[in-house]
Amino acid sequence: MFLPDFDYHAPETLAEACDLLRDLGPSAKILAGGTDLLIKMKHGLVTPRAVISLKALDELKTITHVPGRGVVIGARATHNDLVNSPVLHEHFLSVSEAAHKMANNQIRNRGTVGGNLVNAIPSADLPPILIALDAWITLVGSNTSRTVPLHTFFTGPSCCVIDPVDEILTEIVLPDQPTTGSTYLKFGLRRSGALSVTGVAAAVTMDGDTIVDSRICLGAVFPVPVRAHDAEDVLRGKTWSDELLAEAGEAASCCALPITDIRGTAEYRLDLVRVLTKRALKRAITEGHV
Ligand SMILES: Cc1cc2nc3c(=O)[nH]c(=O)nc-3n(C[C@H](O)[C@H](O)[C@H](O)COP(=O)(O)OP(=O)(O)OC[C@H]3O[C@@H](n4cnc5c(N)ncnc54)[C@H](O)[C@@H]3O)c2cc1C
Repeated sequence: MFLPDFDYHAPETLAEACDLLRDLGPSAKILAGGTDLLIKMKHGLVTPRAVISLKALDELKTITHVPGRGVVIGARATHNDLVNSPVLHEHFLSVSEAAHKMANNQIRNRGTVGGNLVNAIPSADLPPILIALDAWITLVGSNTSRTVPLHTFFTGPSCCVIDPVDEILTEIVLPDQPTTGSTYLKFGLRRSGALSVTGVAAAVTMDGDTIVDSRICLGAVFPVPVRAHDAEDVLRGKTWSDELLAEAGEAASCCALPITDIRGTAEYRLDLVRVLTKRALKRAITEGHV
């Protein structure tokens, strides 16, 4: 299977990349790691006349902690950059762990956070944990720059609010927060290299045994990553117990609207939501790292 012909651009600056995208219009596509785009091009599912690679934009690859702002992840950071980042190990270990659950080593070396978000597939692994940690993102165009809370970014399977002919996702920001524990649990059909059948991310703020607040985000069980607000309401202000977490799992399943496909039935996915929500919450509460 061969790639069709296309013009290749590798701009040296973000401004140049934005201008190219605007000038080339819908016939151009941004290329990050290519683990999704190049496969679609080989299958003839997308046929861009031009590809704009972000590979020269090293400023989009850094992961830093900016006091008062939070951890800023460049959109070009690969999944293995997340896995190995000392900054994430210190501030948001759960994001490193979630990245480690993705794909296989080859894909983790190429695939980027930005590509994972803009791809917007419902089973993607990074959106649930990033949404549970209240992330927001920056979209830069030739004459614009806007910030978007990640939970409002996705609009449907493979759809998001980015303007594909003018905007580039540049950074993901995990704000400093009072969260005391977080985790992402994924169920796939194999131990590695498998897409998620269901994924659940939980972030909790504890005061002793009391759950002051929580954010729970479900993946692969709704057209977009979805917050389980009903489950969060069950937990707020209560002393945690296994029974309470089971009640939250039940409530979370009411927030899901899964499909049946080759990886699992809708009923099976609802069961996974119940079980994974309970386990993710318990891990976030008892292991005490964010
Ligand atoms: C074998 C295999 C296993 C996989 N396993 C998993 C898995 O377990 N979990 C999972 O979540 N995903 C998985 N994926 C999907 C894919 O690898 C990831 O979604 C990856 O993060 C995509 O990033 P990329 O940099 O390769 O994107 P690309 O292929 O370069 O781009 C994807 C899309 O995003 C756009 N884009 C990329 N970056 C930007 C940007 N900064 N601004 C604007 N638009 C941009 C591109 O134009 C394109 O439309 C797997 C893929 C393969 C091939």
